[in-house]
Amino acid sequence: MLRLVACPSCRTQYDVTRITTPVIHCPCGAQIPNQAPVAVDAPVERCSSCGAALGPDARTCGYCRSTIVRDLRLLGLICPECFARSPEKAKFCTRCGLKFVPQPAPGSVPEISCPQDHETLIARSVGGLICHECRTCHGMWVPADDFDALLNKAVTARRTRPSQGLGGHVHHERPAASFKVVYRKCPVCGDVMQRKNYAGRSGIIIDWCGSHGTWLDADEMEEIATFIFDGGLERSLADQEQKRASQMAGPSQMRGVFEHVKNDGTLLEFFSELIDF
Ligand SMILES: [Zn+2]
Ligand SMILES: [Zn+2]
Ligand SMILES: [Zn+2]
Ligand SMILES: [Zn+2]
Ligand SMILES: [Zn+2]
Repeated sequence: MLRLVACPSCRTQYDVTRITTPVIHCPCGAQIPNQAPVAVDAPVERCSSCGAALGPDARTCGYCRSTIVRDLRLLGLICPECFARSPEKAKFCTRCGLKFVPQPAPGSVPEISCPQDHETLIARSVGGLICHECRTCHGMWVPADDFDALLNKAVTARRTRPSQGLGGHVHHERPAASFKVVYRKCPVCGDVMQRKNYAGRSGIIIDWCGSHGTWLDADEMEEIATFIFDGGLERSLADQEQKRASQMAGPSQMRGVFEHVKNDGTLLEFFSELIDF
């Protein structure tokens, strides 16, 4: 059963399900006692799937149509703020409507430091994947194989919520100084990482250790997703495909590839091929 605590100072929620140390040291400086909270009895007033307010007898949510669970035996997740019970898989507290965003508890994942400024990176759950964020330079370390998954999510997020976040992003030219070539070391093995121009020609340079993961400077993730969404990745694919196609096939086969990419969500498989040049 998922167990959450909230930092009394910065309100970050931590997943302490498997944490046995008596105190959690929040990166904000606060100390959080790791005690099993005592649940309070409270009526279910919010949809645990979308957070919408519910009538006292509602059996399904009027907004998202989720079934409302009121059986106490099925409510096991205790809200770290109001201590009411919610279903184990709840996204929102059934009483106060708090959105549950559990982060990995400090100390529960190996500590690594920023390849740029050597600050200790903070483990963060990004779309269900554990990434490591630098609070100083806002760069992000994405372990081994998770980069593709992360991009997939970024692209999906952009497609489904075009008005938020990435949607308003305008690609800006970087100051010339930031193009200065710096070879960074992998925060896990210490070897110098490879620099790759993401998708061959995007101008977005990522640092990559083949064994351990990918380092993204601040905003690079967003730029990459923007690049994909604006069709940059498809243009790069077109270049590559054109080369291949001119050697072995006609335009009809090429179109087939693009239908596949667009409809099937396998953009990232192509992507991994592309950065692995
Ligand atoms: Zn805190
Ligand atoms: Zn709902
Ligand atoms: Zn609550
Ligand atoms: Zn940093
Ligand atoms: Zn490495």
